[in-house]
Amino acid sequence: MKGPCMCGATDCRSCGPAQGYRCCSVCGKAPEDCEHIDLDTGELTEAGAAAQAKWEAAESARIDAEIEERREGARLAADFWEEACRHAD
Ligand SMILES: [Zn+2]
Ligand SMILES: [Zn+2]
Repeated sequence: MKGPCMCGATDCRSCGPAQGYRCCSVCGKAPEDCEHIDLDTGELTEAGAAAQAKWEAAESARIDAEIEERREGARLAADFWEEACRHAD
């Protein structure tokens, strides 16, 4: 895990808000530059909500795949040691 980003860019998702700049939680751009934020309300637009939902789904699929991969790795390691054990008899 990396530490907090220190690039200081106003359009950075991490640094922008830290400096009091608002940026889109979907694409990281300034709300004026993207179509995801309703400038009047500061809320996500329909396109923004859709993009965010898509991103969250992709992210959770990625995490699921990673967990599955790790589980598979542990299973293979267990098989390996079981094999090694049998051969030791
Ligand atoms: Zn940054
Ligand atoms: Zn955006």
